[in-house]
Amino acid sequence: MFIIDAHLDLATNAITLNRDLTKPVHEIRDKEKQLNWKDTQDRGNGTVALPELRKGNVGLVVATIISRYSAAGNPLATLNLPVWHSPAQAYAYGQAQLAWYKVMEEMGEMVQINNWSAIEKHLALWHDATIPNNKKPVGYILSLEGADSIINLSYLEKYYQQGLRAIGPAHFGPGRYAAGTHSDGSGLTLIGKELLREMDRLNIILDATHLTDKGFFEAMDTFNGSVWASHQNCRTLVPGERQFSDEQIKIIIERDGVIGGALDTWMLHADFEMGKDHPKDLGINLEKLVDHFDHICQLAGSCLHIGFGTDLDGLFGTEQTPYDMDTIADIVQFKEILTRRGYTKENIDNIFFGNWLRVIKKAWT
Ligand SMILES: [Zn+2]
Repeated sequence: MFIIDAHLDLATNAITLNRDLTKPVHEIRDKEKQLNWKDTQDRGNGTVALPELRKGNVGLVVATIISRYSAAGNPLATLNLPVWHSPAQAYAYGQAQLAWYKVMEEMGEMVQINNWSAIEKHLALWHDATIPNNKKPVGYILSLEGADSIINLSYLEKYYQQGLRAIGPAHFGPGRYAAGTHSDGSGLTLIGKELLREMDRLNIILDATHLTDKGFFEAMDTFNGSVWASHQNCRTLVPGERQFSDEQIKIIIERDGVIGGALDTWMLHADFEMGKDHPKDLGINLEKLVDHFDHICQLAGSCLHIGFGTDLDGLFGTEQTPYDMDTIADIVQFKEILTRRGYTKENIDNIFFGNWLRVIKKAWT
């Protein structure tokens, strides 16, 4: 079994939340409970660390850098993440996150994947049954969630040299390049359109997640390269601007992109209220994600446009994760769940890794 998770905020957990992801999930949880940390809702509830990724056969992830800029008065400050007062500071903080990925590489914990031959080599390693998973580095494709830290387009080039291969221009609220979730009505900025044209030139994948509806359609008109929506569920099933309408899903399908199913209960159940409901009370289990998969497959007429972009530990933990998932290692349960729901072995291989690889191959070869 080999699984790709196309959206994990590993460096945010390491650098912003001070989690040592080389340790098992339960050790990280225990430490936070001992310290009685209460600064974020997910303290003591984390689900992701490198040992559990290996245990769950998640051998390749799209791993983010998140570093935000805000002009004075920007409502972004409400999210539990630092908000920098200049793009220069945001870039420097992004570099701190990159430095953590680099140290993980030096320790043999992770390996950066930024070209097709590196993927082939990495897949061969993960398919070698003579080497146990705990001796295999987790591959990562570097991505930006929110592009604020790109000081100007010359820094896009720098980031590219550092291995950056995917960008979601938007995150939450206003952004320098694109408006994000909770700022519906706004779209791409002027420099946002320039950014997309440069991304096109460098074959950087566009991550459409977190774009506003307006920004989404502007981006699809401006950008000709490969697209995906790394962590994204369906609006038909869970109303709200954070989810994609059927029209948006169809556009991603037409562009031969992939939509990554997210395991944040807020995106899985229409009635879930953050900080109030418990996933178990609403019966939110892993299978709820398959409803979103089914919906996208019906629109596509195939299973070629879905995958995992779990977003686990994306500023939430078990308090906002399907109740039958203790750690990300439980992602292997999807094999049984999908089989029971009628997906074939070939479908499951495509969902686990094949669909993401198709988009990456197209962008990189
Ligand atoms: Zn996100």
